[in-house]
Amino acid sequence: KDVPEESKDYHLKVALRIRPISDADVEEGATIVAHKIDHQMVVLMDPCEDPDDVLRAKRSREKTYMFDVAFDHTATQEDVYVATTKNLIDAVISGYNATVFAYGPTGAGKTYTMLGLDSEPGIYIRTLNDLFEAIEDRTEDLDCSVYMSYIEIYNEMIRDLLNPCSGYLELREDAKGEIRIAGITEFSTCNAKEIMSLLTKGNKQRTQESTAANKTSSRSHAILQVTVKQKSRVKDINEEVRVGKLFMVDLAGTERASQTQNRGKRMKEGAHINRSLLALANCINALSEKCGKGAQFVNYRDSKLTRLLKDALGGNSRTVMITHISPASTNFEESRNTLVYADKAKNI
Ligand code: ADP
Ligand code: MG
Repeated sequence: KDVPEESKDYHLKVALRIRPISDADVEEGATIVAHKIDHQMVVLMDPCEDPDDVLRAKRSREKTYMFDVAFDHTATQEDVYVATTKNLIDAVISGYNATVFAYGPTGAGKTYTMLGLDSEPGIYIRTLNDLFEAIEDRTEDLDCSVYMSYIEIYNEMIRDLLNPCSGYLELREDAKGEIRIAGITEFSTCNAKEIMSLLTKGNKQRTQESTAANKTSSRSHAILQVTVKQKSRVKDINEEVRVGKLFMVDLAGTERASQTQNRGKRMKEGAHINRSLLALANCINALSEKCGKGAQFVNYRDSKLTRLLKDALGGNSRTVMITHISPASTNFEESRNTLVYADKAKNI
């Protein structure tokens, strides 16, 4: 396998995953236009043929894009997990924060990567399994507790996916300046099967609305937040508690409002979703500027998503963005838009 283990200590790592072509794509007459060339490079071919200018059309038909790591239909869930998320676990146990985003248009495979199927579990469950194992290994000198919550942000409103009847929840800043969600359900089971069923059940509570672009379009961000709190067991050492947070985010679909021909309510949703995604992009941008020279003001206040992730985007935290595209010619435009966006993120 040519999937590299993580080596560099990236602050922001951008991965790309091309999902397999589906039966539905084939039925629509789609061909495959996105290919992985090597473990970092992908090529996208413009399926549009211009009969008037064959030579010129040919020259500009292919575009390549580079990522920290690239996956295609041959990559397993384990491959993707190992190359993107696995090595964040030690950091979180050591008290650092991290965020993993699944980014891309609806239908490109975000939920498959993060949640996965019972038979092909995704990053959520693999991360939790390894986290529990790592904690178990250190149980002699550390006293760890793990808390999880699973929420959605939809139209700038927060809902508890583990307790959907609880209504909309508010973000509060506590005395230490930390952002909390008031009234959120936290679970602390370490039974993988139980967690998978909780998450799958929670995922079914996500707000799905149909749009012209897709039968079911995910208009919400789903966020699995894992908090690890630890105390030293060694006597005489002050009861110092270290807290590490890991956010695993299945972002709303990035399809454009114009493309989905949204009207009214949908249009408002589109605006809110874009607000969160835009705010996120701005934060990531500003943060990278901060690491460089021109220190920019990072405005987390612009959206619920960025407010919630504040502690996990700045400072010593690490961020992984897993970008998703469909390989189908019928999705060419949105794939190109997605690749262009991800390419920008990678260059910062
Ligand atoms: P999104 O969450 O981005 O809208 P989904 O994860 O729901 O997209 O994926 C759309 C469909 O494609 C689902 O039926 C999913 O099971 C399938 N799919 C996505 N990625 C893969 C993959 N890597 N391997 C197999 N099936 C996939
Ligand atoms: Mg989804």
